[in-house]
Amino acid sequence: MAGTSSSTDVTDKQAARGGRRTIVTGGAGFLGSHLAARLLAQGDEVLALDNLVTGSEANLEPLRDHPRFRFVRHDVTVPWKGSAERVFNLACCASPKHYQSDPEKTVRTCMEGSLNMLRLAHRTDARIFQASTSEVYGEPEVHPQKESYRGSVSPIGPRACYDEGKRCAEALFFDYHRVHGTDIKVARIFNTYGPQMQLDDGRVVSNFIVQALRNEPITIYGDGSQTRSFCYVDDLIDGILALVDSPRGITGPMNLGNPVEITVLDLATRIIALTGSRSRLVRRPIPVDDPTRRCPDIGLAKETLGWSPRVPLEEGLRRTAEWFERKLRDGRQVPEITSAVA
Ligand code: NAD
Ligand code: UDP
Repeated sequence: MAGTSSSTDVTDKQAARGGRRTIVTGGAGFLGSHLAARLLAQGDEVLALDNLVTGSEANLEPLRDHPRFRFVRHDVTVPWKGSAERVFNLACCASPKHYQSDPEKTVRTCMEGSLNMLRLAHRTDARIFQASTSEVYGEPEVHPQKESYRGSVSPIGPRACYDEGKRCAEALFFDYHRVHGTDIKVARIFNTYGPQMQLDDGRVVSNFIVQALRNEPITIYGDGSQTRSFCYVDDLIDGILALVDSPRGITGPMNLGNPVEITVLDLATRIIALTGSRSRLVRRPIPVDDPTRRCPDIGLAKETLGWSPRVPLEEGLRRTAEWFERKLRDGRQVPEITSAVA
């Protein structure tokens, strides 16, 4: 499945087969693999580009033989010379554990990766989507967070490589829009979870579910009173597609997430109950600059796109726990996205 062809070869071959030509960077990751499946299901040609730092070809197994799908191992800090009608720029590690393990690479992926994809979009007159993040709000002083809030980010802490990298990527997107008229769509994604997260991803939902299923201690960082708002992956992909299909000129930034806010401690309790686990809670130090509260105001997405999430937390957690249970039992990836591609 992994190709070695040149940029132009790949996109030219896809163009010959017809369909809307799309590039998904970070296509082998958690969100990217779900998005690629949905784009194929709606008839698009999909070229997934990924350097596999946190993504996995196993995520793409159900798509591998699809005639309109192609995967190429490629690092977005290197320009891609092909063309596309739509570009979805998702390449960037999203888990604090991973993006902090090589901060310089995180900054370069956000900035050089965005710039390379913006140049491609400008050159080929493509519409381009940017996966921005709630982290642009940093440690927010207002709740819930609206798009007009400019955030409170530490530029020197361990999260800065990601937070400032994503803020700079937003700046690049809006400069390309102002200077070149590039057709941009920017979403600020809030915590999203679901099948296809890596077992060792380090984010809270996958950590807690895997720990609960193994009856291992559940690691609460700090006292667990910090809050997040968790969106099920299918809802998020609906939101991304609604934004990208919206009329030219609707640029965002637009919050996409589930506005139901809960504490980390509450999340742990629900996962223990849901899985019938014998796990106990253990305290671990709170990471530096861990945001205290986070909750999206999704009024803009509701009003502009008619979008809001539909999957309640209990249901999303149940589906995710079932997927992880199968994965742990079978000892291999069990991709969830097969049905979407049929
Ligand atoms: P993920 O780590 O599963 O996926 C990221 C993908 O990008 C991986 O497949 C990784 O291998 C790839 N990648 C990283 N650096 C790259 C590079 N230099 N070149 C090519 N590929 C590279 O994370 P995810 O949750 O799927 O996140 C996808 C995007 O959405 C990211 O940009 C992230 O910042 C954004 N986002 C996600 C969430 C969330 O809760 N899942 C929240 C906010 C923003
Ligand atoms: N967290 C936790 N235990 C874990 C993993 C995370 O208590 O095993 C907490 C973390 O400190 C943060 C929240 O869960 O307050 C969400 O963390 P995650 O890494 O998923 O994403 P973030 O929103 O911080 O980027």
